[in-house]
Amino acid sequence: MFLTISTTGTPERPATDLGYLLHKHPDKAQTFSTAHGTAHVFYPEATAERCTAALLLEVDPVALVRRGKGKGKGRGGAPDAALAQYVNDRPYAASSLLSVAMTTVFKSALNGACRALPERAGEALPLRIEVPALPARGGAELVHRLFAPLGWTHVEAVAVPLDERFPEWGDSRYVRLVLEGELRLADALRQLYVLLPVLDDAKHYWVAPDEVDKLLRAGEGWLARHPEQRLITSRYLSRRGGLTRQAMERLELVRLAESDDLEVESVDNAVDETTDTEEKPVPLAERRRDAILEALRAAGASRVLDLGCGQGQLLQALLKDVRFTEIVGVDVSMRALTVAARRLKLDRMGEQQAGRITLRQGALTYTDKRLKGYDAAVLSEVIEHLDLPRLPALEYAVFGSARPRTVLVTTPNVEYNVRWETLPAGHVRHGDHRFEWTREEFRDWAGQVAGRHGYAVAFVPVGPDDPEVGPPTQMAVFTMTTAPGTTKEEKAA
Ligand code: SAH
Repeated sequence: MFLTISTTGTPERPATDLGYLLHKHPDKAQTFSTAHGTAHVFYPEATAERCTAALLLEVDPVALVRRGKGKGKGRGGAPDAALAQYVNDRPYAASSLLSVAMTTVFKSALNGACRALPERAGEALPLRIEVPALPARGGAELVHRLFAPLGWTHVEAVAVPLDERFPEWGDSRYVRLVLEGELRLADALRQLYVLLPVLDDAKHYWVAPDEVDKLLRAGEGWLARHPEQRLITSRYLSRRGGLTRQAMERLELVRLAESDDLEVESVDNAVDETTDTEEKPVPLAERRRDAILEALRAAGASRVLDLGCGQGQLLQALLKDVRFTEIVGVDVSMRALTVAARRLKLDRMGEQQAGRITLRQGALTYTDKRLKGYDAAVLSEVIEHLDLPRLPALEYAVFGSARPRTVLVTTPNVEYNVRWETLPAGHVRHGDHRFEWTREEFRDWAGQVAGRHGYAVAFVPVGPDDPEVGPPTQMAVFTMTTAPGTTKEEKAA
């Protein structure tokens, strides 16, 4: 299996930058072992004008069959199929194996990350991609339908004859694929990652439910509006109806969220003028949201509680990411919830979006059965609004009763207050803050909570981490270590 990626350049913007973008040095030939064989990356040409990277995958067909059997998926069970398992086209044709190899070899490039040249990673490059032997069910015509809508100016798919000496035998099921156009490298790679196995139409591994997530991640920015998205989704998921439906629904949500974006801005501005009372400067609130979103994604959460959701800024950010399939905002303040509902345009939301979100008035110091069983709960700048003697009640309601797998708690770091120029000495940041903790006080409390309820806790700084006084906001990430129902309190209950 073989794939080449070429680009052109100038002395100021040399083509060899491709090496940085792929995180593979043009002067070296490198070898990687992947799940199904060995992948080689090398550069047949590397000058300032033209640079080509080649990915060659040597598949071990015996290991492939063994792996297949080991997982119990019974590939070709009949005895006469046994030989076909070993003698087949897998080693020679580009297919899902090449996709898997790409995730091993070009992981950072697929994510669009490039530490050395971050700005170039975000730019479109003149690209030429060639796959000499691509198995393509649906032939050249389908190849065009799949790649033409994606920004390539030249899509060439030429059927490879079965045997050049005997043209009357007709064509094989392979095409030689050439793509040319100005695209971001990450976008091009993510398209290939999805569309190579789609064209091959025979995934070599069992399709697990997390394939839907992988598809949506790789499809970001292009799949939701692709005219062939049904075919792509269905083939990528090996025609598993349930998974395909799930993926199609999520793509629909992506489109809804995208078309919502513009309108949402204006609500944001309107609300902020009159009612935003949380601490300034605003960028810190944004950083906090980003840190929370990142931690939720890292925890793999999809059903999320925002406890003390206030005016719904985090809810709004959660709604924009379709991985969060169920979002519940709870706050004791009806006024805050009304503003949140306005911000989210709850009354004008489509049925599907509205089905993802619930706002609920409630006090966090009381247990609530409806809050059980979620993946994660967020308490963003909430605990400091409670009188200290009420904190154990909140602790029990969240960590003892609701018991989500992950809990994120953020609170101001009082040590940092000396760095706020506008804050008079000895004052808290917000009129309603009942206390503000040092880093040590927060760690102390969080450590005890974790110990009492069967969680592990880690700490993440939010905002600039000052060498003397620490970061402006501190975040604790609690992860459940004991299964629900096994703490002493729960057994007693
Ligand atoms: N999470 C939001 C809002 C923080 S302000 C953000 O990060 O911006 C704190 C919020 O907690 C307020 O909206 C307040 O109404 C709510 N709150 C305070 N005590 C509460 C309690 N006991 N039960 C529920 N909500 C509470």
